[in-house]
Amino acid sequence: MSETLVDYDTAVAQWDPVMGLEVHVELNTASKMFCGCSTAFGAAPNTNVCPVCLGLPGAMPTVNAKAIESAIRIGLALNCSIAPWCRFARKNYFYPDMPKNYQISQYDEPIAHDGWLDVEVDGETFRIEIERAHMEEDTGKSTHVGGATGRIHGADYSLLDFNRAGVPLIEIVTRPIVGAGERAPQIARAYVAALRDLIKALGVSEARMEQGNLRCDVNVSLRPSPEHELGTRTETKNVNSLRSVEGSVRYEISRQAAVLDDGQAVHQETRMWQESTGITTPGRSKETAEDYRYFPEPDLVPIAPDADWVERLRATLPEPPAQRLRRLQKEWGFTDAELRDVVNAEATGLIEETVAEGCSPAAARKWWLTELARRANEAGTELSELGMRPKAVADIQQLVEAGTINDKLARQVIDGVLAGEGTPAEVVAARGLAVVSDDGALSHAVDAAIGNNPAVADKIRAGRVQAAGALIGDVMKQLGGKADAAKVRELILTKLGPGA
Ligand code: ADP
Ligand code: MG
Ligand code: ZN
Repeated sequence: MSETLVDYDTAVAQWDPVMGLEVHVELNTASKMFCGCSTAFGAAPNTNVCPVCLGLPGAMPTVNAKAIESAIRIGLALNCSIAPWCRFARKNYFYPDMPKNYQISQYDEPIAHDGWLDVEVDGETFRIEIERAHMEEDTGKSTHVGGATGRIHGADYSLLDFNRAGVPLIEIVTRPIVGAGERAPQIARAYVAALRDLIKALGVSEARMEQGNLRCDVNVSLRPSPEHELGTRTETKNVNSLRSVEGSVRYEISRQAAVLDDGQAVHQETRMWQESTGITTPGRSKETAEDYRYFPEPDLVPIAPDADWVERLRATLPEPPAQRLRRLQKEWGFTDAELRDVVNAEATGLIEETVAEGCSPAAARKWWLTELARRANEAGTELSELGMRPKAVADIQQLVEAGTINDKLARQVIDGVLAGEGTPAEVVAARGLAVVSDDGALSHAVDAAIGNNPAVADKIRAGRVQAAGALIGDVMKQLGGKADAAKVRELILTKLGPGA
């Protein structure tokens, strides 16, 4: 179903977008939130289950202390207040992959609340206010079999795997993000990227979006101007990559603008992001909190982290993101513009790791922001998901500096590494990519080039040294681009230049 859209620039010229981002983080605890079952991914279906996470009558949950610790550390890293006392709540609804018919979550007593996270967009800092971070459990997983789309409509039957049921999640909810204007899609993306990096630095989750460790729901509404009350929002689910975060905000702004321009009202509803087409489609109309009949979970005691423990956990936090960025900029000697490009390309961590492998910051930036960014773009993927390890980039740069390959050959080495042909050195060997720097072979090729281009050779003899480029090109052609250009130039000048 295709809907009318307003061109994005026209939409944001007329309407003020407001966003709300809900990010679910799957913790990397060894066991589940309320039972001892393993959280290991990829086990045979329904093998990591027990009476508690299957919701069998009479089974009693107990809280995973490590999950509480991770929740508190996330809260602290997001500059939140930690509740001295809070409870779990039952969120009641029926869903086939949720065996208890309710989810243990938190409602009006979240473990962490009222924080913020600063994100950088185009060299400017934008503060995202955090309403709360609360604990909950994941659901199981349904697989719809038969049918063309893998969705429930048209399927012959559905399979349920409860291995994921009860895996600890932290849901991080922003306050309505106002003031983003036309940069709303970019700011949403930058926030999720910054949150992902922070979670990774905390070590509490793998934080890999493509594996579903980090999932995002994107709320968007429009209003005529910042002076107006908030408009009606939609909530887009299933947003599982940074690209999709950006795309779903952009799409909803264009779609809602068309609805409003037509004099109609936006439906408050859940929508689904369609990764393949880059659009959102309507889902169910949105439940309100009353529909869930929240009440305090009677089977679990309240959580009351003592202040000393919270302070000890505060001492374990990684360097705050903005501070880290300033430190790296200084260490790397990047200008503000260079750093901004690195941040926009989401390459900070990759460059940091490449430098740690012995590469110079400038070379690391060059490879990630040019060759590799281009390939990620062509493949429609993120830089971090390209499959290029920082160590390999450092190795390639080392091969260039040692004169084994030139920049042009390095591109073929990148191709080989990305194609899974091994380390850069292995690719150079297997593809025969090392530059020819052997004097005999080069001298022979230079003589042939002189023979092929007598007029050029005469110019050089007459003192027009800059004409050597044409001969270097000829030698490169003879040797398949694998000549050591500096050496070739030297040879040409020895043979033809002044004093020859
Ligand atoms: P729900 O249970 O419906 O998902 P939550 O409170 O968990 O509600 O999350 C709603 C998200 O949407 C929050 O990030 C909130 O700040 C944001 N939000 C609320 N109202 C609006 C609005 N009118 N426009 C955009 N975002 C909104
Ligand atoms: Mg929600
Ligand atoms: Zn269990």
